[in-house]
Amino acid sequence: MNQEHTDPYVVVIVGAGPRGTGILERLLANVGEIPVSRPLRIDLVDPFPPGGGRVWRQEQSSLMWMNALAGNVTMFTDDTVRCAGPIRPGPSLSEWAAADGTHWDVLGMSFASRQVQSHYLSWVFDKIVAECPDGLTVAVHETTATRLTGGPDSRQQVWLADRAEPLDADVVVLALGHQEAGPSEEDLRVAGFAERHGLRYLPSAYTADADLSGFLAGENVVLRGFGAAFVDVMALLTEGRGGEYRVEQGKLRYVPCGDEPVLYVGSRRGVPYRAKIAYRLVGRPAQLPWFFDAAALDRVLADREHLDFRTDLWPLMAKEIGWGYYHELFTAHPNRVTCDWDEFFAGFAAYDWDSAPLRELVEAAVPEPADRLDLAAVDRPLAGLRFAGFDEVQAHVRAEIKADVRRRGEFTHSADLGATAAMLSVNRQLRQLRAIEKLSARSMVQDVHGWWQGFFEYYTSGPPAQRSRQLLALSEAGVVRFLGADMWVDTDEERGVFRAGSASTPDSIEATALVEARLPRADLSTTTDPLLRGLYESGEATDDVLADEDGFEHSSGLLLVSTEDFRVLDKAGRPHPRRYAIGPFTNVRHFAAFATPRSNAVSFRQNDTLARGVLAVLADGDDRFEYPTERHTVHKGLTL
Ligand SMILES: Cc1cc2nc3c(=O)[nH]c(=O)nc-3n(C[C@H](O)[C@H](O)[C@H](O)COP(=O)(O)OP(=O)(O)OC[C@H]3O[C@@H](n4cnc5c(N)ncnc54)[C@H](O)[C@@H]3O)c2cc1C
Repeated sequence: MNQEHTDPYVVVIVGAGPRGTGILERLLANVGEIPVSRPLRIDLVDPFPPGGGRVWRQEQSSLMWMNALAGNVTMFTDDTVRCAGPIRPGPSLSEWAAADGTHWDVLGMSFASRQVQSHYLSWVFDKIVAECPDGLTVAVHETTATRLTGGPDSRQQVWLADRAEPLDADVVVLALGHQEAGPSEEDLRVAGFAERHGLRYLPSAYTADADLSGFLAGENVVLRGFGAAFVDVMALLTEGRGGEYRVEQGKLRYVPCGDEPVLYVGSRRGVPYRAKIAYRLVGRPAQLPWFFDAAALDRVLADREHLDFRTDLWPLMAKEIGWGYYHELFTAHPNRVTCDWDEFFAGFAAYDWDSAPLRELVEAAVPEPADRLDLAAVDRPLAGLRFAGFDEVQAHVRAEIKADVRRRGEFTHSADLGATAAMLSVNRQLRQLRAIEKLSARSMVQDVHGWWQGFFEYYTSGPPAQRSRQLLALSEAGVVRFLGADMWVDTDEERGVFRAGSASTPDSIEATALVEARLPRADLSTTTDPLLRGLYESGEATDDVLADEDGFEHSSGLLLVSTEDFRVLDKAGRPHPRRYAIGPFTNVRHFAAFATPRSNAVSFRQNDTLARGVLAVLADGDDRFEYPTERHTVHKGLTL
């Protein structure tokens, strides 16, 4: 490095969304403990305003809501966070809203709009910068970083879209968040079909950002996917077009404006995600982890060469979910069970999940079938059901949604919240379980990243109940129609239309538009981000590939970083001494969500580790910038 020793050290953070903001906060929090020998400048680069960044920018429809309770969202550490750096408390979203006064209706148990969250995140950013210690400057560049250059033993250059000269940096942190991938072969095929026949096609996209103006009033639009992306499209193509909800005799009714298309929605399950529970546990919280404890399991499984997800892990995961569920049922609703908790627990602990004695125990102790936990039925509510036609499918799915809204809103079913807490714990423990490496790559991809993550999100991460009520009202107004489970879509060249149906009914429909209603999958090989693409093409960055000896190989499409300190790994597996990356586009993507107060949130601990690593490198001066010759070992267990 040819710098004068009075020149400041420069850290460039590319991406100033929630993650980049969190990294900034941790750098400023830790700089007092790990002082660097020169002044420090931190440059943030993002074309969108800092704090919220792209997803949480102010300029978006007010119809876009969060799916987390405002009291469960915070950007500030508290004394539960087990990190090496200092704790710097601050308000959660709902506490900030109460103090701010302009968002008086955002309570701990309410769901804020994304615009309100955008206000909160800008306020957080401004507060962090205002409290910046002496000797430290923060600069924001509202532009895109197009390229990252510089060898491991020299300063880095971050090239920007709006100027010829790059930013020189001692360390670069990539916090690039949610990525857009280029079209897949299937996308191109369907897009070509749509173009030939004058149809409309929207591949997977951040639906809140997508241009939906081309969808025509009254045309049949097929939506493939029933999760968060669907909810955004549903809101934008109905209320967003001028339709209105009215409460009539206590019931929500949708009054169409006439500009809506008819939305035919389906998915593998054929039902929407379970509505979010908006209250706290009624009974005593169960101690978690209990049956699915990573440290204990690692000891038990130390001698095992291979693991099987279905026979070795899932029964323990399910038992943990059952523990959370029944603990809440027995401690909060003793009138719904026939024995006391200690008696029930003696049997529950002794018997295997899904065994005949456990089923008998549950049947005897829990008289109401609706109070018993049946995870298979929860996962696939339409499995095995066959309806004569679409009208019957509508009636059945509506009944499912009504039952879900009622169940998720009633304290009598708070056992569902107990199960949710246990599922969150299972997910955390899975991340820490070293023995998970003994699963085959195929099982890791299909069972853990595939089935389990999908089930987890469906059960714990659904929309606010009000969205489910709106869905019902739209269905009753004929604006939304349900396709059923295991939906399919064909391109009919002869008739020049999309055709869609499902395993739930022999009926099918014709449509003139298709929407892939799911968020884009990160894919390093086709990413539209110029900086990432450049690193990938030059071999300075690589994707996370899981492989088995039998030839199975799968790329997650995610950027490979060191699981210990978040440094970017090159194609040869060597961590770069000056480049770090963190967030949902990397292999250590943690279930991407805001931190919940008082939860020792993983994202805070990750941010702290990364920030302290960066400062330690700067504090030690140039000697620390060595390029290691050895490959880094990436642990599969940490890539959830
Ligand atoms: C539509 C949507 C809704 C969500 N809703 C919720 C919710 O309700 N509750 C919840 O807990 N979680 C939610 N999440 C998940 C979570 O909030 C997000 O994961 C969070 O935004 C992640 O923050 P991030 O900073 O890592 O990524 P992002 O928010 O994606 O921020 C990354 C930033 O990097 C910038 N960037 C990328 N490339 C470059 C470049 N080359 N140069 C300069 N800047 C660049 C982008 O412009 C962006 O501002 C949601 C996610 C999405 C996508």
